[in-house]
Amino acid sequence: MRLSRYFLPVLKETPAEAQIVSHRYMLRAGMIKQQSAGIYSWLPLGFKVLRKIENIVHEEQQRAGHIPLLMPTLQPADLWRESGRYDDYGEEMLRIRDRHDRDMLYGPTNEEMITDIFRSHVSSYKDLPLTLYHIQWKFRDEIRPRFGVMRGREFYMKDGYNFDLTKEDALHAYNRHLVSYLRTYERMGLQAIPMRADSGPIGGDDTHEFLVLAETGESEVFYDSAVTDIRLGAREIDYDSHEECRAVMEEFTSLYARTDETHDEATFNAIPEERRRSARGIEVGQIFYFGTKYSEPMGAMVQGTDGQKVPVHMGSHGIGVSRLLGAIIEASHDDKGIIWPEGVTPFHVGIVNLRQGDDETDAACEQLYTALTAAGLEPLYDDTNERAGGKFATMDLIGLPWRITVGPRGLKNGVVELTSRRTGESEEMSPEAAVARVQEIYAPHMG
Ligand code: ATP
Ligand code: MG
Repeated sequence: MRLSRYFLPVLKETPAEAQIVSHRYMLRAGMIKQQSAGIYSWLPLGFKVLRKIENIVHEEQQRAGHIPLLMPTLQPADLWRESGRYDDYGEEMLRIRDRHDRDMLYGPTNEEMITDIFRSHVSSYKDLPLTLYHIQWKFRDEIRPRFGVMRGREFYMKDGYNFDLTKEDALHAYNRHLVSYLRTYERMGLQAIPMRADSGPIGGDDTHEFLVLAETGESEVFYDSAVTDIRLGAREIDYDSHEECRAVMEEFTSLYARTDETHDEATFNAIPEERRRSARGIEVGQIFYFGTKYSEPMGAMVQGTDGQKVPVHMGSHGIGVSRLLGAIIEASHDDKGIIWPEGVTPFHVGIVNLRQGDDETDAACEQLYTALTAAGLEPLYDDTNERAGGKFATMDLIGLPWRITVGPRGLKNGVVELTSRRTGESEEMSPEAAVARVQEIYAPHMG
């Protein structure tokens, strides 16, 4: 993309309404525009990152064997009357009446609808196990929408639902989701720690939340500092293996890590003092096992191996796709702007032309642009007439992890400069070497 042809409405001033750094930078970098409280337009740069995050979520869900579909945002109230949640859900549910006086709602989550789909089409244990998921806009009329996309009213969520014949199979689905979530967050350059949590209005027995540690987080958390040393890394996990998924689950959840809702002072105090931590965290996902809570009242039954009809065991599993943009920025920024992890960056590399209009630098930039694009990478070429300082400031603000700077002085010696946004370190090399290096850096992140 050439910046002169892009739509990147960066702001010079710091918007007064933004209280936390991710919200400030998303506004300043021209990623979002608020349309009303907690409701945002996703401008091109923000939309690009949203899509990257969404793609990672899709890839990791499908790697785990989960099947994508798409349910509507608007739901009939009758389904929620069947589960009893139409009255229970409260003020957060946006209720709508259509022209025929039918009660509708903008879905805050989809347990009822997916259960309805299941009961309409599945009747035998032979069709299990089954996990269906979608990534769709949700609406919750939050009393205090704030922090930009972190606590919106309209927000983008991945929600998945498992259907299993037995509790044991459903717990495997739970563990499988835990593993797939760990991999999802790690690909985004994030550490999200699974913590024992409280089930809230979804209801159920087992639940873990995934928290990204950040001072601006809304959740209070307590943990053994040793949990922060555990990574999934490049390990290949067989998602069909109950044992392998359970082993990862135990590895990541046996140390103390809880939200304030489930915090237990006595157990916490048994941890050696130097490892005891209390901190703030951002909830970026949650997994639940809730058994037959919806299948029973809604009649989602299958014929078991003995021919008897039994309600299926279910769980639901969510990832806050739009909230993740805020969480990633909270975890990765400096005083100049965002620092995108390679896995989610909107463009792979910025090209800064220090003397726009100079035949030689223009030609060198064009060549770089062509070579990077041919290598399957997406460069953002600042081909505007802005002075060098302004170009650097914009690149730093929007946070591309790598920048290639092209100037007449370097070109005389046959070199350009490759700079890391994270470390600020620069290295001179030939344009060909710069392209090769950037290709190498992104190789692990290319489908
Ligand atoms: P919270 O406790 O933050 O209100 P929740 O526990 O009610 O969230 P879930 O039902 O578990 O939310 O939804 C799954 C994920 O969706 C959450 O882990 C979170 O990342 C995201 N999410 C929930 N509410 C919002 C919101 N208002 N804005 C943006 N993302 C949200
Ligand atoms: Mg939650």
